[in-house]
Parts: sequence; C-alpha cells; structure tokens
Amino acid sequence: MAMKIANVDEGLLLALLNTTPTVAGQVTDRLADPEEAYAWIAEHAGDEHLAEDLELLRSTRDTLQALVHAQAAPAALAPALRGVSYQPVIGDTGIGWRLAAPRAHTLAARAVVAWDALQHTAPGRLRACENTDECTLFYVDHSKSNSARWCSMSGCGNRMKARRHYERRKNTQITD
Ligand SMILES: [Zn+2]
Repeated sequence: MAMKIANVDEGLLLALLNTTPTVAGQVTDRLADPEEAYAWIAEHAGDEHLAEDLELLRSTRDTLQALVHAQAAPAALAPALRGVSYQPVIGDTGIGWRLAAPRAHTLAARAVVAWDALQHTAPGRLRACENTDECTLFYVDHSKSNSARWCSMSGCGNRMKARRHYERRKNTQITD
C-alpha cells in the first residue's frame, strides 16, 4: 500500500526536541513545570491538545533526543504509538490518510511519526548542535551540501568560530 503522507510535523518534532535549551550554562526543561508545559503545547499545537499526557510527552522527547545521539533504540518509542492508526479520508482527488491517535498522546505520536519520516526522507539530517559545551539544541540540515554543524550560524556558529580563533591564537602565543 502506497501512502503519501506529508511530513507536516517536522516543526513540531523540532520544537519538542528543543524544549531543553541551555540557558546561562544550565540545561532547562520547558516541559518540567505543568503550567509552562501547557503553555508550550498551546503555543505549538493549539488549545485542543491540552489533554496531552505530559509524562509521556517528556519521555518520548527524551527518547527522541537519545535517538539523535545514537543512545537509544526505536523500540523505546512504542508507548507513544499505542492506539495510533491511519484513517482514510475521501476527498475530491482520492483518498488521503489522517493520523488518528488517542487524545492523551496525539503530540507524542505526531512527533514520533515525523521522526520516522525524516529517517527516510532526510537520513542523518536531524542532528544535535556541535556547540555541545553551551548548546543543547537540535536542527534539521536542509542545506544542499548537508554541511551545517550548528543550530544557527548567527548564534552557535559564530561563537564556535570565535572560540577556535581565540584558541588558535593562544596556542600560537604559547609555542612562540
Ligand atoms: Zn547551538
């Protein structure tokens, strides 16, 4: 069966992966506090998703992050896919497929499905920022050369370049 399903949830997946940013040298968690977590859900998915199971959403995020770091097996994502199916929707041009998931983990399921789709459509392009000392963000490299190394060129890219320049100068001065 050939099902054509657009990966519309790449943004949601990335937003979920990036709920643990490093702020002033500390790794934070935007889903740790329920009030902040529900605000995050409302912002990224809309009020209709406020029935989401926060614990499952957090553990799914943790697994997805570990998968990007090659520190987990996909089987750990199974809880997010319980009761999930695709339902046919008939339209003017034929049949489309809609993800159907229990209300308690619709977002977790969508993120997992988006992650899986990326493995096929853009293998290896979902990565962690290489500025690992200061940054815990993830990105999808859409560049033609597939050579992006940072969550953002203007942020971590420039900081890493500046640091390397400084270290090169320091090393040069020591050996001189
Ligand atoms: Zn970064």
